[in-house]
Amino acid sequence: MKRLLVTGGAGFIGSNFVHYWLREHPGQDVVVLDALTYAGNLANLAPVANNPRFSFVRGDICDLELVARILKERAIDCIVHFAAESHVDRSIVGPDEFIRTNVFGTHALLKAAREAWTVNGKMRSDVRFHHVSTDEVYGSLGSGDPPFTELTPYAPNSPYSASKAASDHLVRAYYHTYGLPVTTSNCSNNYGPYHFPEKLIPLMLVRALDGGLMPVYGQGENVRDWLYVEDHCRAIDAIVHRGRVGETYNVGGCNERRNIDIVRRLCEIIERRFAEDDALRVRFPKCPASKGRSVSELITFVDDRPGHDWRYAINTEKIRSELGFHPRVDFESGLERTVDWYLANEGWWRDVLSGAYRLVTSPRDA
Ligand code: NAD
Repeated sequence: MKRLLVTGGAGFIGSNFVHYWLREHPGQDVVVLDALTYAGNLANLAPVANNPRFSFVRGDICDLELVARILKERAIDCIVHFAAESHVDRSIVGPDEFIRTNVFGTHALLKAAREAWTVNGKMRSDVRFHHVSTDEVYGSLGSGDPPFTELTPYAPNSPYSASKAASDHLVRAYYHTYGLPVTTSNCSNNYGPYHFPEKLIPLMLVRALDGGLMPVYGQGENVRDWLYVEDHCRAIDAIVHRGRVGETYNVGGCNERRNIDIVRRLCEIIERRFAEDDALRVRFPKCPASKGRSVSELITFVDDRPGHDWRYAINTEKIRSELGFHPRVDFESGLERTVDWYLANEGWWRDVLSGAYRLVTSPRDA
């Protein structure tokens, strides 16, 4: 595969993936198709903007004609599909856009790919449609339940996870019905650079640095599995190159944490950074750490999210044994890297927060 179409490449994981792919695959070209919604940001792609192997098309994945034209004119032989509405809180406030992009948009891509990759009535076998999905399609686990496997029945609980589940089913159907060479990955929570500050880790970071309240749902007891974003990119690379067509692979960090423990750990890392570097006190005077106080004084428990899944955990046996994939970044160093990225890229998140992108109204923001 030589010419990739990356949908949603201006978002969090998509942009990390584009950086990763151009670095790791010097002979290959990448075209990004992204509508630049509130979550998409060209600044995420600035480091590769002048790379001759990279190009950007602003557009909607629901636009079948546009997608068909890109596939044909750019001779795309691999689609890695990230584009989605991705924030559960927003899906509770307004589900329509989730159904449009995640379900109809995925279907438009599948339809265009089927058309473009059928030659003389036969589906090409040297192409790939990789669909990036989430562990949230499996629903919620109790504290003692075994982690999700690829055989766990789907039981999505939010409009977001239901729309992703629907898209997974369409991808599967295009394989079984039309022979489209597809793979799907269902990954746990990612964290790292370019993460939009409405999601747990970056939201807590920017609030802490600006001395704002750090809103934690319920008592912060909900458990998620966490994976550093670059490890997710490596997992997709392994699946695209060596994964079996028609298969789904669960991807995770085998790293379950309660939300409150993550927030407290972030507070500790920030306090340590302020103790090591006096300049931070000047740059972030509203952060309690600038006056030697505990950052965790900002933690505020807010009413729980409706239908909040209790726990997600991933059984990664399949991707480990079939593709030899293991995460490389352990949680402690991944979290430290993330804090350091947000400290070093204040301009990025200030721009994101500057009003061009309105944060969702949710219990967390109330
Ligand atoms: P994100 O919200 O940061 O980025 C989504 C991108 O898609 C944005 O650049 C946005 O502009 C673009 N987009 C949205 N609607 C579009 C449309 N109609 N046409 C074209 N582009 C459109 O999301 P993310 O966190 O990077 O997630 C990427 C994918 O990975 C999603 O499919 C999500 O379901 C999946 N995923 C995310 C996580 C996570 O922890 N963030 C975990 C597992 C799976």
